[in-house]
Amino acid sequence: MTQRSLNLDDNLYQYLLDISLRESPLLQRLREETARLPMARWQIAPEQGQFMALLVQLTGARKILEIGTFTGYSALCMAQALPADGRLLCCDLPGDYNAIAERYWYEAGVSERIELRLAPALETLSALVRGGQGESFDLIFIDADKANYPVYLEHALVLARQGGLILFDNVLWSGRVLEQSPDSADTRAIQALNRTLKRDQRIDLSMLPLGDGLSLCRKR
Ligand code: CA
Repeated sequence: MTQRSLNLDDNLYQYLLDISLRESPLLQRLREETARLPMARWQIAPEQGQFMALLVQLTGARKILEIGTFTGYSALCMAQALPADGRLLCCDLPGDYNAIAERYWYEAGVSERIELRLAPALETLSALVRGGQGESFDLIFIDADKANYPVYLEHALVLARQGGLILFDNVLWSGRVLEQSPDSADTRAIQALNRTLKRDQRIDLSMLPLGDGLSLCRKR
């Protein structure tokens, strides 16, 4: 759950940020406001947000699903990279942080592109499948309760179009993936997901040591 890329010392990480991060004043303000919250560690690193925006542009995504939105930093990065008629559906639980997300999306002028559904994500995902939205999402970002990661994978594979991209966050889990017999169900679920992704022939795979670890899965 570290918010910065792993394996860089402080000086080199600062250099990376100084020389490549193009964070807007609005995104910076959102990140700083979020950093004051008790669950601040849920926020992605700014260089990861910039990378995900680039992925949206590279893939030409027009329809995105996000599972786990929090104060909306990753959603804002992706929404701003969408074309004007692009759509981003965000899944999260009701919380004080919802209003922060919506306030910044409004200020950025991308509210029209984003729908926030406040319900357990598995309910929303099932409703999307029932509603005939299978095979329709260009990009799916999964950054929610880790114990459900293996379940989210199966839903994402139904909802993503062929050639679509599924992203899993926190796949290196601050190094806890190395534990042999973890007590934490979250750690065990991430380990199980990573093992599954390695051998899953439904996807092409790359795991990046970006932020807390980001796995890119292209649906075959
Ligand atoms: Ca995360």
